[in-house]
Amino acid sequence: MASSKYIFVTGGVASSLGKGIISASLAKLLQARGFTVTIQKLDPYINIDPGTLNPYEHGECFVTEDGAETDLDLGHYERYLNVPTSQANNVTTGRIYQEVILKERRGDYLGETVQVIPHITDEIKRRIKLLGTDKGFDFVITEIGGTVGDIESLPYIEAVRQMRWEMGTDCLVIHLTLVPFLAAAAELKTKPTQHSVKALLEQGVQPDIIVCRTEKHLNENLRNKIALFCNVNPTSVIESIDAESIYDVPLLMLDEKLDLEVLEKMHMPVGHTPELTRWEEFLFRLKHPTRKVVIGLVGKYVELKDAYKSINESFVHAGAANQCKVVVKAIHSENISTDTVASVLEGLDGILVAPGFGSRGIEGKIEAIRYAREKNIPFLGICLGMQCAVIEFGRNVLGLSKAHSTEMDPETPDPVIDIMEDQKTVCKKGGTMRLGAFPCTIKKDTLAHRVYNTIDIQERHRHRYEFNNRYLDAYQKAGMIASGINQKDNLVEIVELSEHPWFVGIQFHPEYKSTVANPHPLFVNFVKAAIENNPDRSL
Ligand code: GLN
Repeated sequence: MASSKYIFVTGGVASSLGKGIISASLAKLLQARGFTVTIQKLDPYINIDPGTLNPYEHGECFVTEDGAETDLDLGHYERYLNVPTSQANNVTTGRIYQEVILKERRGDYLGETVQVIPHITDEIKRRIKLLGTDKGFDFVITEIGGTVGDIESLPYIEAVRQMRWEMGTDCLVIHLTLVPFLAAAAELKTKPTQHSVKALLEQGVQPDIIVCRTEKHLNENLRNKIALFCNVNPTSVIESIDAESIYDVPLLMLDEKLDLEVLEKMHMPVGHTPELTRWEEFLFRLKHPTRKVVIGLVGKYVELKDAYKSINESFVHAGAANQCKVVVKAIHSENISTDTVASVLEGLDGILVAPGFGSRGIEGKIEAIRYAREKNIPFLGICLGMQCAVIEFGRNVLGLSKAHSTEMDPETPDPVIDIMEDQKTVCKKGGTMRLGAFPCTIKKDTLAHRVYNTIDIQERHRHRYEFNNRYLDAYQKAGMIASGINQKDNLVEIVELSEHPWFVGIQFHPEYKSTVANPHPLFVNFVKAAIENNPDRSL
């Protein structure tokens, strides 16, 4: 294809309507028709990236292969498309301004007054086009964070206006709005959609397609009304009804012909009928489980659904792979103590201890791991969860009663988890952890080897602390073995217990790599172990 096509997805009326899911679903359909597609998220906040944001503010921070700390929507893009994203797929206002200010200081704009238009909008357009021209995707879908009318999104909408003007039908705008159902009137209401399209028009952008999030079906009349008031064809009014699973949305969009509408408007060949057999098989297995397991997710942000997004989605993929319903029970680690552990964790078929930072809730995590180890319950510890498993084993098996990570206790006499050598001189917090994909070599004839069925793997990381090799001998002799090592830097990446049915701690984050097409083997096997732990649990 000669040039890339650019699709923008904006949002109106309310936040959290699912722009990320609509973008990913459209991308899936275009991909299934044989096109190459990527999705980009533009976030209108001033942080350079979400790496320094509290999960309570922003949900999970997703990590790409090339080590970018990004918005969690990139996780959806990867899970749907099974194509890795990169640094270029998530851009914030902070990064745009940083670049422009750097250029100004360098003298690139000598003599000019540096302004939002054209300097900031040019930088936004450059970042959008990078994915098309440099990386050569057929379609670049750009999701604009926030809601139309926000002060912060103005420069982005202006960049969209300019690109539409410059590129004609190579550019298209989809606006996602809410059509609320008013119970008292027993009616769906289109007025908020009309107002939100007006807000977009005030900024010079006429949407080509309007996707309406709704809890009830839109009838012909409503579609015609929205079309008339918002200057679009009735076929360009697309219903996005609440779905049982986010993975239903590509098929719902197929029924609504969103992909065909886009292709026609962009004068593109329709190509073949979308090839979605594997996707449909996945949905079938997901919706027809033959058994059930209950997994405890022990963490400190459990009241917030989005804080462990990728972990929860990995369980959805692994559940479908096992045709098993995985009930993830969120457990606050601050509620676990020696006295409460048995009652809080009773009845679980598997226990996962989550990643995290800082000391809040740490003793509860350690206590949960002791319980999983002693009671032979399948256990998966991710990043901080793995570090806690090492601390627990040090304290309760090796008898190092004060063993700790220097992150929580810098004065511990037994720093079994310690800051990495090259982190000791780092003072800045943003983007300075060990980030992105690193190779790991797996030891033969271990549980990790059986799980991965290969020796060389690559997994994504986000941490500063690491297993302290001074203790490795003592650990291995007592039964906690290092079954995965980064050979270049001699870092322990996987630990497991030889005398336990299924106990694995990993310094990396497998959850960032699990997709519908490739459920992660660690999660698939962990769920299998949980089933074996309690094969008689009824659905
Ligand atoms: N806080 C730990 C570290 O920095 C673990 C990080 C994590 O769980 N992602 O090493």
